[in-house]
Amino acid sequence: MFWNKKSTTVSESNIHIHPAVDHGVKPGEPNFAGGTLRCQCTTNPVEVAVSANTAHNHVCGCTKCWKPAGAVFSQIAVVSKDKVRVTANADKLAVVDPAAAIQRHACKGCGVHMYGRIENTAHPFYGLDFVHTELSPQKGWSAPEFAAFVSSIIESGYPPSGMGAVRARLKELGLEPYDALSPPLMDAIATHTAKAKGVLAA
Ligand SMILES: [Zn+2]
Ligand SMILES: [Zn+2]
Repeated sequence: MFWNKKSTTVSESNIHIHPAVDHGVKPGEPNFAGGTLRCQCTTNPVEVAVSANTAHNHVCGCTKCWKPAGAVFSQIAVVSKDKVRVTANADKLAVVDPAAAIQRHACKGCGVHMYGRIENTAHPFYGLDFVHTELSPQKGWSAPEFAAFVSSIIESGYPPSGMGAVRARLKELGLEPYDALSPPLMDAIATHTAKAKGVLAA
């Protein structure tokens, strides 16, 4: 592995995780205040203003998150839902799967998911919207921190024999691979469930 400490670039690899991380993870800017997400339609794109930086950014191997062409993983982060506002061409949005916990609002023209919202007030992540910050021309969004649902890429057809190499590449990029969410987020979900059940003090 080639590792240049000064520029923190990692080796090139023929394993494509996601375009935003394939040449090394770029750090975010601490004082970044948000930007505008734009879908991939060349005319009348949907625009979503996000007026805060994101948190818990990560790459995700699940089959539900939107991925750009050729990417094995999506890149997804959360932001408080009151910081998310559709500012152009809202009529092009439709919910992908109304039965899913996360209501992913996708552009009917290009298929890009513009934001995912949780409507169930009892959900552990209620109040947070899920967004793909790569859809924004602005730089400084929070950097991806880990890889979630790594084993799930097999469900999209990724060969099981390649999983060792994928996990090695994720580690090389500094994106610790997990087959669910990261331990802090799994703990947050379990804590929420335990409080709801009354086995932990609320
Ligand atoms: Zn579109
Ligand atoms: Zn996902």
